[in-house]
Amino acid sequence: MADHSVEITEGCRLPVLRRNQENEDEWPLAEILSVKDISGRKLYYVHYVDFNKRLDEWVTPDRLDIKKLQFPKKEAKTPMKNGLSGSRPSSPERDVKRKAESVSLATQVTAATPVPSLPASTEASQAALYTAIRDASFNIKSREEHEPLTSLTTNGTTSIQRHLIPPQPGRKRKNCGGTDEDSQDSSDGIPSAPRMTGSLVSDRSHDDIVTRMKNIGCIELGRHRLKPWYFSPYPQELTSLPIIYLCEFCLKYLKSLKCLQRHLTKCNLRHPPGNEIYRKGTISFFEIDGRKNKAYSQNLCLLAKCFLDHKTLYYDTDPFLFYVMTEYDPKGFHIVGYFSKEKESTEDYNVACILTLPPYQRRGYGKLLIEFSYELSKVEGKTGTPEKPLSDLGLLSYRSYWSQTILEILMDLKSENGERPQITINEISEITSIKKEDVISTLQYLNLINYYKGQYILTLSEDIVEGHECAMQKRHLRIDPKCLHFTPKDWSKRGKW
Ligand SMILES: [Zn+2]
Repeated sequence: MADHSVEITEGCRLPVLRRNQENEDEWPLAEILSVKDISGRKLYYVHYVDFNKRLDEWVTPDRLDIKKLQFPKKEAKTPMKNGLSGSRPSSPERDVKRKAESVSLATQVTAATPVPSLPASTEASQAALYTAIRDASFNIKSREEHEPLTSLTTNGTTSIQRHLIPPQPGRKRKNCGGTDEDSQDSSDGIPSAPRMTGSLVSDRSHDDIVTRMKNIGCIELGRHRLKPWYFSPYPQELTSLPIIYLCEFCLKYLKSLKCLQRHLTKCNLRHPPGNEIYRKGTISFFEIDGRKNKAYSQNLCLLAKCFLDHKTLYYDTDPFLFYVMTEYDPKGFHIVGYFSKEKESTEDYNVACILTLPPYQRRGYGKLLIEFSYELSKVEGKTGTPEKPLSDLGLLSYRSYWSQTILEILMDLKSENGERPQITINEISEITSIKKEDVISTLQYLNLINYYKGQYILTLSEDIVEGHECAMQKRHLRIDPKCLHFTPKDWSKRGKW
């Protein structure tokens, strides 16, 4: 029990009882982010140090181990000047432990993550890479030397090896702001526009403790109830409500079920706005122009922010296209996830933010979104890469997608005249539209590259082959390029979006 004679204030650290995924009690160190008093009973908002922020929560005093209380160091009280809300780099390993909770995808707008280079990456990308497939005599490494490759044994739930790209601190992105004309009208239950603080403003000096804390308890979206993981700048009035209601088709937010029902009598949408550019079975993709459908795009960003930690909300949605994936039933086209993409990217980005909504996570939809993003790049005749750094869960899905896509190609290579099959990194990149750096980092991550007698050789162990085949059998959801009806636009020629 907490000893009430000691004041536990913001910035204090102490072990806090939580139940882990294995349903065991543990006492990780946590930081107190906020304290509130409800009729004389204190509640503490805690961030578990080294765990992802999505696990932050309000706890009762009996869960605090007050004997080990550490007071905040005076000089370094929750650094927040860089707009990252004082969040500490989370430990990949701890985060990976949490992966089973969900596989959502998130990328943030920040400086590009350096890709670890090959011993001589420039030569390697030009040099032919020899592949030794299955035939043990081609393997220059014996099978025992390879670590078992768990990353391909389960769909989307990779275990991560140690040489992961570390999380990068974010950089600010200028936001052109100003979208009052598109804020929701007041007739439908919510009197004001989303607040323009936190990640909505380019000047992050306003960033405060508020944006470190989840502010929305629950969102009802169609037949789903979603529990947000992170702060999202919905209007202040909504934050005191136990549930906010979203129209699942136009994503407008409403403060009560009654307001939603009234809205639904007027809202005719049964699918996202924009053009349906893909349909196969019950899966569709809609392309939404952030300029033409600004209100929808902004509402999508507000919803997405609930599940993306560092996402910069683009209140200026004009420079972006949004690709929303839906699943159809007789009631309509229900949003499953989306990704955004700059109309023009000078850095080969083919995805800005990407998210599978929690009810659909861990079912292969994340990889389907990624696959779709590369199919668009193939039509554009470009290679692409997601904006960096990827979130913990996003990196898992991308690693898995890249690994499977590259292994698929390597395993299809045929040997000629008993020679090892050959392929260059550039060729892999051209076939898949995966940017060269990501091809290289994936080959390294899979530990396939060996240097032997002056040549780079890719060695596919039986473990890798078996793991890959097993994973591909589980991958039921695939994009069928024949069902994509997409003509890329040359946005640079339009002068203005
Ligand atoms: Zn609506």
